[in-house]
Amino acid sequence: MADEADQAQFIEARDLALALRQRHTTLIATGRCYSCDEDVPEGRKFCDRDCLDDFERLEAARKRGGRDVD
Ligand SMILES: [Zn+2]
Repeated sequence: MADEADQAQFIEARDLALALRQRHTTLIATGRCYSCDEDVPEGRKFCDRDCLDDFERLEAARKRGGRDVD
C-alpha cells in the first residue's frame, strides 16, 4: 500500500509550494530563482527548498554582519 506515502509526499509538496509562494512576498517573481538564477515556473521565486534555505541563510548573514558566510 503506497497510499500513505503518496499522501505524505503530496502534503510535503503542497507545503513546499506554499512556502515557496508565501515567503518573501516582497520579492517579485521574475521567472528566475533568487538563489541560483535558474528558470522557475511562473509565480515562483525559488526552485526548491534548498534554494529557499540558501537564500534565507544569505539574507540572515547579510543582516548580521554584511558578509556572506560559507
Ligand atoms: Zn534555485
